Amino acid sequence: MNAMPADLPRVFHPEPKLAAVPTQPTAKTRETLPAEAPARTWSFIDSTSDKLLHHTCMPGCTNNHEDDRETPTHPHDITCNRDFPDLSLPVTTDSTGPGKCRVMGVSIQQRPFSDLIHERVPHAVVELIEDAHVEGLDPDGLATVILTLEAQLKQMRDVHAQLTALRAQGRVEL
Ligand SMILES: [Zn+2]
Repeated sequence: MNAMPADLPRVFHPEPKLAAVPTQPTAKTRETLPAEAPARTWSFIDSTSDKLLHHTCMPGCTNNHEDDRETPTHPHDITCNRDFPDLSLPVTTDSTGPGKCRVMGVSIQQRPFSDLIHERVPHAVVELIEDAHVEGLDPDGLATVILTLEAQLKQMRDVHAQLTALRAQGRVEL
């Protein structure tokens, strides 16, 4: 690996390598998880049967489910969601130049009435770039995405060092 200049901003220095991403919380992390509000239970009209159904939200669900409660709703459309802050980068997708675009977003979702069994339990969704998702991630799946991206970040740091060296070389030759 190329040596990095010592005066780089801290963000460009490699982080100590994680041995692995734990797939199960340890007793210590369980103790330090924030206390959650009690799970909400609410009712909606099933648009396929006109029956009143009850649903208990996933703990920590940030969806107010207003639309689901106000009108008859297909059970498949009920989605519990735990949101996390967005991250944006200037991304060029067409000839109009770079625009603000969400990247590397992550949320936890649960679709309690989904046809897909893996969606009925809490699972992670990674939004690689606005409207392009890796869906249905169980803890091992999310760990795989994290490790893959970590390896790519390592490569980006290496590319950064090569680019810095090329620029320095260019300054000498110009
Ligand atoms: Zn919910």
